[in-house]
Amino acid sequence: MTTPSGEAVPYPRLIVDLGAIRRNYARLQDMTAGAEVAAVVKADAYGLGAAAIAPVLLHAGAKSFFVANAHEGEIVRAAVGGGAQIFVLHGFWSADVQAIARSALIPVINSPEQLRDWLAGPAGPYALHFDTGMNRLGIPMIDVSGVADLAGKRQPDLVMSHFACADEPGHNLNATQIERFATVRGAFPGVRTSLANSAGCFLDTPAHGDLVRPGIALYGGAPRATGANPFESAATIETPILQVRQARPGDSAGYGATWTTEADRRLAVVALGYADGMFRAAQKGGYGRIGDVKLPIAGRVSMDLITLDVTDAGDSAKPGESVRFLGPDLDAFAAASGTLAYEVLTRLGSRLERVYV
Ligand SMILES: *Cc1c(COP(=O)(O)O)cnc(C)c1O
Repeated sequence: MTTPSGEAVPYPRLIVDLGAIRRNYARLQDMTAGAEVAAVVKADAYGLGAAAIAPVLLHAGAKSFFVANAHEGEIVRAAVGGGAQIFVLHGFWSADVQAIARSALIPVINSPEQLRDWLAGPAGPYALHFDTGMNRLGIPMIDVSGVADLAGKRQPDLVMSHFACADEPGHNLNATQIERFATVRGAFPGVRTSLANSAGCFLDTPAHGDLVRPGIALYGGAPRATGANPFESAATIETPILQVRQARPGDSAGYGATWTTEADRRLAVVALGYADGMFRAAQKGGYGRIGDVKLPIAGRVSMDLITLDVTDAGDSAKPGESVRFLGPDLDAFAAASGTLAYEVLTRLGSRLERVYV
């Protein structure tokens, strides 16, 4: 049994690769030539830190940002300064009106009632979100002409909708939603349009609109379940090995003794756990790496510790040595956890120090 030497950083860090985010942004511009590429930075830029990332996207060329609520909008405004447009997807409450004015936010209005309130009240710039088939947020198609009449001369800055199945290119709901959105376009001639999220950027140009709204692709997660992911993961966890031990035939490891071995194996315990956002489900198929060597999770993920089978790493697996998680394995780690990169990123814990490179 060995203990840490004291040299290593004794806590897990989340390394955010700003260069990867810039390259992902440029790739989206190439994929959607002609469309403006907005940046979706809601949920603190998918857990990676909106205050640090939004300015990088601004310099990469983003002129429009999307957040969920006005509070997030204020943080992004402080980060990017004036100039850029910041759209608030959840619309507005009367309690938000001051923040919207102070930070020059643009509410994305989701119902005729909300539009009436906006026009009777603040009446600043706004966007309209129409529900073309997802039955989630948005103005129902039946209200398109009524809302166009209501808007009258005070036209929205943007009309948008959101795909339910853009990650399945062959799904017939995509064509239906594009067709319904054409009706929206027709009711708001000359107004900018927005339809595609990350997965929608892979569809043909009628799916894009004037402005696309990628989120996950910026951070490198796979927008679609199938096909290659052309984006670079911007999130890598680095955490030190705390202790290494030898497991003998018949030994088990971790809570519930769910991992057992019939051979000699070397085990390393690292400073990372479900408190940092690592899913317990990742026990089956999840792994970290030293260099290129994959180190499978051995036994249950606990709150602050994960045990890895480091036999294949040989002598490099020693206390203080850094083990990496996610990075190029982001999608694989999500799959092992029974979820998507979206959920892995947005659940990364606050204990992880964010380090921007
Ligand atoms: C979150 C969100 C996006 C971004 O989706 P990704 O799949 O991450 O690209 C775009 N539009 C709306 C309305 C959203 O809620």
